[in-house]
Amino acid sequence: MGLRQARAPHTVGERRIDAVTGPSIFTRILSGDIPGEIVRDTDRLFAIRDIAPQAPLHLLVIPKTEEYRNVAELAAGDPGLLAELVALAGELAAEHGDGDFRLVFNTGEGAGQTVFHVHAHVLAGALPEGSLGQG
Ligand code: AMP
Repeated sequence: MGLRQARAPHTVGERRIDAVTGPSIFTRILSGDIPGEIVRDTDRLFAIRDIAPQAPLHLLVIPKTEEYRNVAELAAGDPGLLAELVALAGELAAEHGDGDFRLVFNTGEGAGQTVFHVHAHVLAGALPEGSLGQG
């Protein structure tokens, strides 16, 4: 799969070193290492149900590669893969609901990102107008 392992910086004395932290939680779900509900598996993407849903439908669409930490990196590095991801989000929203959906990419810790393996939140099901950003 050619996955690049996620690295977390650590400081030892004056030296900053990179430690290999291993595959992301999403990669571990895909490989069956840890449980998760995989709802779609394609050549370059997969989708799972979010463990802590914030809408009646809450899926995560994730590139198989860990090369991109966030959507800005993905857009710059492989815009075709980003387009595939958006198309798959739409397909899943149609399959699991009426086709309307909200697509959210938390980008950076300050925006609530906790897993640094790019993923889109696909939210759907009676989302109120004006609810964006409330939490
Ligand atoms: P973010 O905070 O944007 O990085 O999104 C990470 C998402 O991953 C959160 O919505 C979590 O609920 C979700 N998540 C974390 N662990 C799991 C898991 N084991 N299975 C499914 N979703 C998970």
